[in-house]
Amino acid sequence: MKLPTEKGHPHIISLLNVLLLMLFLAGCNKKDQCLKTAASDTQPTDDVSPPAVLPSQKTGAETKERTVAQLPQTEEEWKKRLPPEQFNVMRQKGTERAFTGKYWDHHEQGTYLCGGCAEPLFASEHKFDSGCGWPSYSQSLDKKKIKEVEDLSHGRTRTEVVCVKCGAHLGHVFEDGPKPTGLRYCINSASLDFEAGEKKDGSKTKK
Ligand SMILES: [Zn+2]
Repeated sequence: MKLPTEKGHPHIISLLNVLLLMLFLAGCNKKDQCLKTAASDTQPTDDVSPPAVLPSQKTGAETKERTVAQLPQTEEEWKKRLPPEQFNVMRQKGTERAFTGKYWDHHEQGTYLCGGCAEPLFASEHKFDSGCGWPSYSQSLDKKKIKEVEDLSHGRTRTEVVCVKCGAHLGHVFEDGPKPTGLRYCINSASLDFEAGEKKDGSKTKK
């Protein structure tokens, strides 16, 4: 009565041990493989993850940086983005025909934005009827947003005005404007967008 059990047990136990060992080894191998594949899977995502983290780190300047980043980087990209006349004026320093633009005879209350990057550049309160056929302003909203460049084209000496943010040609500034500035920013409608709104003189100046 002892024969089968006494002789059978060691066999079964050793067999079980071998099986367990094999299972254990097989398990290890599988785990190693899993780890390896997991590692190789994470490598590409590691390359992707830093940009995904960056936006959350830069909170304050994020919106401005993003809009600049979204702007076309080459003239080819600008050409795809802008209608032909706007491209000609803004990127190739063209001039729209007098009395043809959409803003020379425009008298709504609001802000005139750069047609390229939407930066607010001029306000309706500084707009005046110069009679020249282009929207004219006695001053810009913020001098820092407009760059003045000497323009010697067409045999004349003029001062070109350019959007600082996106480099768009806007028009020229002349010294025959109304008081108190004596300036006339003569701007192409094609370089502008308009945003209707309240007067901004009260909110802009903090005293
Ligand atoms: Zn601009």
